[in-house]
Amino acid sequence: MHLTLIKPNIGRMEHSLYVDEGRMEPLQLGVLAALTPPDVDVTLWDDRLESIPYDEPTDLVAITVETYTARRAYEIAGEYRARGVPVIMGGMQPTLIPEEVTPHADAIFVGDAETKWLGVLDDFRRGALKPVYDAPVGVAHPGVFTQRDIFKGKGYLPISLMQFSRGCRFACNFCAVSTYFDKGHYTRRVEEVVAEIEARERNQIIFFVDDNILSNFAAAKELFRALIPLKVHWVSQGSIDMTQDRELMDLMVR
Ligand code: SF4
Repeated sequence: MHLTLIKPNIGRMEHSLYVDEGRMEPLQLGVLAALTPPDVDVTLWDDRLESIPYDEPTDLVAITVETYTARRAYEIAGEYRARGVPVIMGGMQPTLIPEEVTPHADAIFVGDAETKWLGVLDDFRRGALKPVYDAPVGVAHPGVFTQRDIFKGKGYLPISLMQFSRGCRFACNFCAVSTYFDKGHYTRRVEEVVAEIEARERNQIIFFVDDNILSNFAAAKELFRALIPLKVHWVSQGSIDMTQDRELMDLMVR
C-alpha cells in the first residue's frame, strides 16, 4: 500500500501576495508518518515547495487542512479524486468545520490522529473507509517520535520542529486552540522529548510548536530543567503571565 501525505499551500492565485514562505517542516505529517505501519510506503508532497505529481500512482491521499489552506486543499483533493484516488482530510479545519470539508473528501478525520489512524488504514485496506472518524484530542501517545526522513531533500529551513504540549488552559474567545482543545492542555513525557531532541541528525535550533508552552508552569519547568544539559537553542510561544514567575523566567534562558 502507498500513502501520500500532502501539506497544501495557502491557496495562492497568480496575482496574489499570499505565499507561504515559512518552509518549516510539516510536523503533523511527520507524526502521521510515525503512526503509520512500516509496511505502508509513505511519500510527502509539500505544495509550498514543489509541484504535486497527481499522476504518480498512490492508493490513499491524506491532506492536513488548516483554515488558511482549506481552499487549496479542496483543489488538491479534487485533482486526486478526479483520478479515482480516495482522499482523507484531517486537522484543524475538518475538526472545527466538518460540514464544510466533507464534500471535498472521501473521509474526514475529526480530532487528533493518535488513537484512530491505524483504524483508518485498516478500514481502507478492507475497502471499508468510513466517511467520518471522530477521535479525541490531546491524548498522550508515548513512544511516537516524529518520522523525519520524509522531510529529507525538501529544502526546509534549518529548524527542528518539536512538540512538548498541545492546547492551552486559557479561553481567549478569538482562539481556535481554545475551541479545539476545549481549554485543555496536554503534555508529552519530558524524557521522550529529550530523546527526540538527542536523536536529531543536525544540531539546529528547535522550535517548540506548542500552542502555549507555558500553559502549565510546573510542566514547563520540568522540560526546561531537562533542556539545560542539552545546551540547545530553542524558541516557542507562551503566555505573558510567565513574568509572574521568576524561576520560570530563569530556567528559560539557561
Ligand atoms: S493564551 Fe494564546 S493559545 Fe491560549 S487561548 Fe489565548 S490565544 Fe489561544
